[in-house]
Amino acid sequence: MILSKRSLFLETSPTVAITSKAKLLKAQGKDVISFGAGEPDFDTPDFVKEAAIKAIKEGFTKYTPPAGIPELREALAEKLKKENKLDYQKDEVVVTDGAKYALFTLFLSILEEGEGVIVLSPYWVSYTEQIKFAQGSVLIMDTTEDNFLPNEEKIKEVSRLVFERKPLPNYIKLIGHYPKRIKAIIINTPNNPTGAVYPKKVLEKVAEVCLKENIFIVSDECYEKLVYEGEHISIGSLDKDVLDITFTINAFSKAYSMTGWRVGYIASKIKEVNEAITKIISQSTSNVCSIAQKAAVAALKGPQDFLNKWKQAFIERRNYMCEFFDSLNIPYVKPQGAFYLFVDFNKVISKKGYKSDMEFAKALLEEKLVALVPGSAFGAPGYARLSYATSLENIKEGLKRIREFIFS
Ligand code: PMP
Ligand code: GLU
Repeated sequence: MILSKRSLFLETSPTVAITSKAKLLKAQGKDVISFGAGEPDFDTPDFVKEAAIKAIKEGFTKYTPPAGIPELREALAEKLKKENKLDYQKDEVVVTDGAKYALFTLFLSILEEGEGVIVLSPYWVSYTEQIKFAQGSVLIMDTTEDNFLPNEEKIKEVSRLVFERKPLPNYIKLIGHYPKRIKAIIINTPNNPTGAVYPKKVLEKVAEVCLKENIFIVSDECYEKLVYEGEHISIGSLDKDVLDITFTINAFSKAYSMTGWRVGYIASKIKEVNEAITKIISQSTSNVCSIAQKAAVAALKGPQDFLNKWKQAFIERRNYMCEFFDSLNIPYVKPQGAFYLFVDFNKVISKKGYKSDMEFAKALLEEKLVALVPGSAFGAPGYARLSYATSLENIKEGLKRIREFIFS
C-alpha cells in the first residue's frame, strides 16, 4: 500500500472541484454558466494590488515570522477590537494561508484522536474532512428542522449523552469513533451554504451551553462583511468568558476578493494554541507569502467603500434569484448574508427521476452547461447551492436554462 489511511479517507473538496471543472470547460470554449463559485466575481481592489507591487519593488520578498509580520498582526488586532468588539492583543492573532489553513492547523493543534467536534449541517465542505484528517470524531448535527440555526438544547443533550457514554440521538450523524468528549463546535455565520446570519439571541444561547459544558467555540466569520439583513455578531464579543473559549477565524478572501492571495487568520486568548499553530506553520508552509501580507495590511488600512457597491450587486442578484424560485414554487433558504442560495430541489429531483442530487447536478451540467454544487457535499442531500458571485446577466441565462431543464 503506497498511501496512508489518512490520505485515502480524505475527499477532494467538492466546491473546489466543481468550480475548477466549470472554469476548465469555459477555457475549452464551452458556454458554461457556473453557480459553483465560492469567490466574489469582483477584482481585488487596486489599492491592495498596488501595495503588493510596492512590496515586490522594495524587495519585501523574503521569509517572514511564521505567525505573520508584526505590522499585519497589529492591524488585525486593531480591526478585531474596532469592528468586532473582540479584545485580542497582536500576539494573539496568527496569520495563516487563508481561513482554511487556520481551521486545519487549529484542528491539528487541539484534537486528540476521538475527540468530538459538533458540525452543524448543512456545513461548509472542509470542516468534516479536516476534523477527520486530524483524527477527531465528527458529530454532524442537522439544523434543517431548526430553521438552519443551532439548537442549544440539542447541543446540551449531545454533550450530556457523550458524558454518560449513551447512544447518540437520531439528529446526529457520527463520522469516526464514538467521541471521548465533545471538544468543540463550529459556528459559521454568515453561513456557507445557507446564507443564514445567526441572531444575537441564538449566539447567546449557544455560548451559554458551551461555557457550561466546556465546549470550545470555533467561530468562522469569513463572510462577516457580506450581510444584507440583520447584523454580524462575533460570538466572542458576547463577554470575556465566551472570548476565552472562542477561536475566531477570518480571512481576506471574501471581504477583499483576495481568494488567490491566501491570507487568513486565527485569534485566540489561549497562548498554547497560538504557539502550537505557529509551530505547525513553521514546519509546513513557513509563513504566508510576504507580498500578500503587505497587501493585507493595505486592505485593512485603505478605503472600505468599494464594499457598498459589491453588496448592492449581491442584493440585486439575490433578489432576482429568490423571485425566480418563488415563481416556480421551489423552496430555498432566504440568504441574509454570504453569496449563496441554498435551494431545496427534493421534489424536482424525484419528479425527474434522478437517484440523487449528484445525478441531478451532473445531468444539468452535461445537458445545459450549468454548474451548481449538490447539497450532499454540505450534508444536505436533495438541496443544491447556487452561488450568486457571478454577473446578473449570467444568472438570468443560468436560471433560464434551469427552468428549461426542469420542465423538459
Ligand atoms: N470558511 C468558509 C465558510 C468558507 O466558505 C471558506 C471558503 N472561502 C473558507 C472558510 C476558506 O476560506 P479561505 O479561502 O480564506 O481559505
Ligand atoms: N469556500 C468556497 C466555497 O465554499 C471556496 C471553495 C472552497 O475553498 O471550498 O465554495
